[in-house]
Amino acid sequence: MTKRRTAMTRSAEWIARDHRVISPSYTRSYPAVIVRGRGLKVWDADGKEYLDFSAGIATVATGHCHPKIVAAIKRQADELIHMSGTDFYYPSQIKLAEKLSALFPGEERARIFFGNSGTEAIEAGMKLARYKTKRTRFISFVGAFHGRTFGSLSLTNSKSVQRRGFSPLLPQTSHAPFAYCYRCPLNLKYPSCKIACADYIEEEIFRTTVPPEEVAAIAVEPIQGEGGYVSPPPEWLPKIAQLAKKYGILLLADEVQTGMGRTGAMFAVEHVGVKPDMIALAKGIASGLPLGVLMARQSLMDWPPGAHASTFGGNPISCEASLATIDLLEAGFMENAELQGRYLMGELKKLQNEFESIGEVRGMGLMVGMELVLDRETKKRAGKLRDQIIETCFAQGLLLLGCGPNTVRFCPALTVTRKDIDQALSIVAQTFRDILKK
Ligand code: PLP
Repeated sequence: MTKRRTAMTRSAEWIARDHRVISPSYTRSYPAVIVRGRGLKVWDADGKEYLDFSAGIATVATGHCHPKIVAAIKRQADELIHMSGTDFYYPSQIKLAEKLSALFPGEERARIFFGNSGTEAIEAGMKLARYKTKRTRFISFVGAFHGRTFGSLSLTNSKSVQRRGFSPLLPQTSHAPFAYCYRCPLNLKYPSCKIACADYIEEEIFRTTVPPEEVAAIAVEPIQGEGGYVSPPPEWLPKIAQLAKKYGILLLADEVQTGMGRTGAMFAVEHVGVKPDMIALAKGIASGLPLGVLMARQSLMDWPPGAHASTFGGNPISCEASLATIDLLEAGFMENAELQGRYLMGELKKLQNEFESIGEVRGMGLMVGMELVLDRETKKRAGKLRDQIIETCFAQGLLLLGCGPNTVRFCPALTVTRKDIDQALSIVAQTFRDILKK
């Protein structure tokens, strides 16, 4: 008893110190002070062990501290830490760019721009789109999350708190309805709707507000992440791509969360055969080291020296971690994401049969959302219940995160096993039972 109280105090002490000096703008769902990680396990400052189904927000693709990633980082740190990719050449950056260029699922090979984060990858895409098309406008989707710097924030609209107080944002950004079939923005039913939400852009937005010849790019998440793990039907993204092509608009696929094998393919656009002009990557790309990437068709990325750069972007340690990550993904982790994702989804659907509050289970690979409702008829959002589930799972040693107003996301490392999934879901099921019987 005494031991436990001392242990709890350590986390509480860190949190008290955090509150005195760290910006309060971060969103912390529960008081987890994490000090160590291995694979799917992490430990807090008090030594308590957790099963991590958040993967550092879908970032540690290869699990915590995979030995091959750690070795790559150590090797590179011994050789060179920084010279600046803006003024000097780095072999590791070149090797990684060659690899990514070959993987790029567009119509040409890609050229690569390196930054440090998802938002920088999006900013680079927005700047390149304006530079090349000489057009000013952008279109993104309701519920989208593309980052928090001014350009990307102008595309983001998943929560109003992310925008409140920061206007004016970039002018001339418009938000089209996303194919959120569970809550169809047009009140239609799939498939009889014939994906009317995609036609809406041409028939309504272009007709009334946005001249298409002024649109530089459409930014789109193949599966919405922060907005609620919303997975559109397979016909939707190809329709958006077709529309973009028709009007000479560039397609910027934001694969910051869906990319790097998470959905069972290296890039989620590959599932539906879409060939974007640009792809933004970050999160899982370097197993937790900071790295943001904009891949663009070779003929598109031909801006002059000085047009865009970043001091830390493409740091050699991050690039080596990324090369090791891609090796591991190709050697089996991506396949595992497909396999275990299917199992996870199937097991969650079984839970849906047991618990009325699970309105929908959706996603692809290891990007799975469970949307909670107060009642399946009205689909009233059960945001409080969602938070309670996540907090109780935390107390039971399972780390989950929310997304959207009422969805629980499951995005474990791509190394997850069936046993991990069984363990996680038995905690989730017990949590539902405990909460609902109260
Ligand atoms: N795009 C998507 C789809 C994301 O999920 C995120 C982060 O959650 C971002 C962009 C922004 O990435 P970062 O936080 O690295 O700037």
